[in-house]
Order: sequence, then C-alpha cells, then structure tokens
Amino acid sequence: MSEPRERLEVDVLFVGAGPACLSGALHLANLIQAHNRKSLPGKGLESVSIALIEKGREVGAHTLSGAILDPIALAELIPDYRERNAPLGTAVSGDSVYYLTEGSRFRLPWVPPPLNNHGNSLISLSRFVRWLGELVEARGVDLFAGFAGTELLFEGERLVGVRTGDKGIDRENRPRPSWEPGVDVLAKVVVLGEGVHGSLAGQAVKRLGLDRGKAPQVYALGVKEVWELPEESPGTGEVIHTLGYPLRQEEFGGGFLYHMGRTLSLGLVVGLDYKDPFLDPHRQFQRFKSHPLIASRLAGARLAAYGAKALPEGGHYAMPRSYFDGGLLIGDSAGLVNSMRLKGIHLAMKSGMLAAETVLEALLKDDFSEGTLSRYPRLLARSWAGRELYRVRNFHQGFERGLVWGLLQAGLQMATGGRGWKDPLPSRPGHRRMRPIAAYHGAGAVPSSPLQADGKTTFDKLTNVYYSGTRHEEDQPSHLRISDPRICQERCPQEFGSPCQHFCPANVYEVVPREDGKGRRLQINPSNCVHCKTCDIMDPYQVITWVPPEGGGGPNYVNL
Ligand code: SF4
Repeated sequence: MSEPRERLEVDVLFVGAGPACLSGALHLANLIQAHNRKSLPGKGLESVSIALIEKGREVGAHTLSGAILDPIALAELIPDYRERNAPLGTAVSGDSVYYLTEGSRFRLPWVPPPLNNHGNSLISLSRFVRWLGELVEARGVDLFAGFAGTELLFEGERLVGVRTGDKGIDRENRPRPSWEPGVDVLAKVVVLGEGVHGSLAGQAVKRLGLDRGKAPQVYALGVKEVWELPEESPGTGEVIHTLGYPLRQEEFGGGFLYHMGRTLSLGLVVGLDYKDPFLDPHRQFQRFKSHPLIASRLAGARLAAYGAKALPEGGHYAMPRSYFDGGLLIGDSAGLVNSMRLKGIHLAMKSGMLAAETVLEALLKDDFSEGTLSRYPRLLARSWAGRELYRVRNFHQGFERGLVWGLLQAGLQMATGGRGWKDPLPSRPGHRRMRPIAAYHGAGAVPSSPLQADGKTTFDKLTNVYYSGTRHEEDQPSHLRISDPRICQERCPQEFGSPCQHFCPANVYEVVPREDGKGRRLQINPSNCVHCKTCDIMDPYQVITWVPPEGGGGPNYVNL
C-alpha cells in the first residue's frame, strides 16, 4: 500500500451532500457568478474551483428526514423554485396533535404554534437533495459521490484538506486486487456539513477544542418508514404528531404521520437520553404502528422504505464553535435543529448560504484565517435562523424530568422568548443518563421477549434493513471500532445487558451463543449498518466509534 496518493487541489471543498452543503455550494457558485458579472475581465473569480464529496453511492442515498419543509431558505436560495420543478410533494392541509395511551387517544383542541405547518410542504428529503444536486452540478461544482472523507489534513492548526478513504482493503487490512488509495483533496477552505455527529466534524471539535465552554450535545433517534397506499385517498396533506404511547413519561420523543399523495411517511423520534437500558426504539416504533390511530391509516398500504438517523437536539448552547483556520461547520454538523418545531432542513440550508457568503469574502481577501471566517457565526446569529434557534435554546433540556415537566417548561419558554425559569438549563450527555439493569429494573432482570412481528404492520429489524437498500462491501475492516472489546464481552453484559443490541435499529449488534457453548457473546454485523450514529452516541462506556466505511456503502434511501 505504498502507492502515492493522488492530490486534488480545489479552492473550496464541501463535505456531505445534504441540504446544508448543497445549498452552500449552489449559493457560492451563484455569488461568484454575480461577482464576475460586475468585475472587469480577468479581475473576477473565474478560476475558483468548488468541489463537494459525498460518502453515499449517489446524492440523496444517505439523506433522510421526516420531512416537512419550511420553504423560507429555499425561497431565498432559488426564488423560482416552483418553475424549476422543486419536488415539494404535497402542501400541508391540516395539523393535529394527539396524546396517546395504549388503547386510546386524546386530540389536543389546538395545535401548539411550533407544530403549525400551514404553508409548508411534505417532502422526501432524499428526493429533494437529488434535485438540489442536479442544480449544483449544472452550476459547475464538481460533485464526487461514493467518496468518504475519513481524515482531516492539518498544517499546524490550520485545516488544509480532507483525505478520502482507501477502497479495496480487506477485513484484515490488506489490499484486495481492487485496491485504490484515497485522495488528498486540498482546499483553501473546507466546509463540513456531513450531517449529525459527523466523523470529520468530530475530529475538528476534538483537535481544536471547539466545544470548550459549550453545553454537551444531546441527540434523538428517528426511525422512519414510508408506506405506499393503493390509491390516493382523502386526507392527503394531513399531518399528525403524537405524544405519549409507546414512550413513557420519563422519555423524550413522539411520533409522526404525514400523508403525501399515495404515500404515508411515519416514524418515531426517541431522545437518546433515556434511562432504561432495555429500551429499543425500533421495537417502540412497531408498537406505535400498532396503535389504532396509526394502524387504521396503514390498512391496505404496504411498506416501501425504511431508515433511521440521529438528530442533534442540544440547540443553541450546545453548538460548537463553527469556524476555525481553514474551516466551517454547517447544518446538523453544527447542531442546527429546532427540536421544538421538529425541523432542521431550512436551518441547514440557511447555514450553508451564510457559509457561502463568508467564503466569498475570504476568496476576495484571499484570507481563510479564523479571523475572516468568524463572520459566519455572526451572520448566523443575526439571521432569522439564529433568532429561531435562540428562541428554543432550552427546549430539549426542559424534558430532563419527563414529559409533564417538559411541556410546562416549553409553555413557559414560549412565553418568555426561550428563557423559561432558568437560562441556560443544565444538561448532561445522554449516555450518562442510562442506568445499569440492577438500578433500573432490579438485579437479574431480563428484557421482555423479542417482538413477534406480524410481517404486515410490524417488522423485525432485518426485514426493515432490507427496505433501507443497505449494502456494504463485506470484505472490509469493520467501521465500528471498539476501543476496549473486553468491556463489550465481560462488563457491559452484566451491568447494562449489552444495550447496543436494543438501541441499534439495524440489528448490527447481536448477542449470540458462544461457539464453545459456554454462555453468550456479542456479535457485530457491520454490513447491516444504516449509518444512524446511535451506537457512537448512546453506548454507556463510550467505547464505540463509528467511522465511515468504504465510500459508496450504506443505505440507499430513495423516498425517505
Ligand atoms: Fe446505527 Fe450504529 Fe447500528 Fe450503524 S451500527 S445502524 S450507526 S446504531
């Protein structure tokens, strides 16, 4: 493996083809074009090169969201988006919010303003970013799908580029005949928008201490399915949000069901700061679908797609410093989600656009130092996006003591511009809230028997993974790095009951009988992974690190 790496030099590199980077790349290309039109020949930015790398096999393959789009950023980025056939799906025709118990429901007499979606559109985010990707390429941006950024390249403390992963390494770390070394993509500025808990963003945060003085990030996991209806039925455009069942008072989260033409998009969001080591978000999602309110909507429909993804919920106080010499953080990588509205796409797009405006200034000054790039967080704070995030700065943290207390806090926060009774509210990393079996259930407790999926409304994890289109090269090193395997085999089973087997929504972690018949052991099936990042976030010992597998591997989301 001594072949020299290819080097590719560009001016601006975006990492991750989600709404943040695609909006940023498109806006930057537009700004440069507008600048060049006003400049004397030869005095413009004609030679600026912009590249974007994406680990999925194509743009959109790893992109998943609920999703209801607030078009505010889209209208700024592409004012004629309707004429350009933006895939906006169905306009929201009505909202309702229910509190569920196991067998019944209570419809709230009014919809809390943050959940009012009048004027918004139901979309498939994976389809939406495919459309954005076409516009970006048409603007001359070089878009490389199937290339996973695995390592940040620094000169001193200045980010100078990204190394992409080698392809064709076998599970013993030896080159296969198809081996191709990764590429060093060198850039004057790198914009990281890899999505939630991005591995490159994580490297930057750790190396440069970008989270110093910030509240810990907290997360939720969204598990989602898309169902196809036999024909368009009345009620298209309907939006349902739920609280309560199947989650308990102590757990943060809720369900959703969106009716878009001939499809139903439904899912369950579960805060990754729960206490019960046996809690299984996928299983809870199956119970959610079995509730009469949801099951009645699914009658006659068939499962078409499945996916899962974590989302950053910590809000304003948990956002890391988003600028440094040679780099910016945008979108979910910067923690830009409004968890009260269950929305982040419009914030991701706006952050990409503001990063583009900052990068334009840096290109004009030929200065990519953190002094110039510090304009980005100032622009963000002054924008509608920054103000929106500031108003919900304590939302998730308000639920630390459960649903009822959280709803009271949310009401108070809405009345006080986000302040609530204390500002900022204290917070701690979600994995620290998980309690050992003995403390939570009592010594010797075991999880209830596995879910008996009926194959009609409810499905086991492996069946669901099939519907995510997930595919990895099997003969490659595991992309789930365990820093201390003894903890997983000896200590964790006793103390927490191997909670990875429960919180992973893709059956990657399995407890199986040992070959010698002496007890059980943890088996890891990396090729099932849907890249949700939950194990890296929620493992109580923090010994699991998710790293990108060979580029192109992972889910293949189409309508999610
Ligand atoms: Fe998610 Fe980790 Fe399971 Fe992959 S292995 S699906 S990242 S929990």
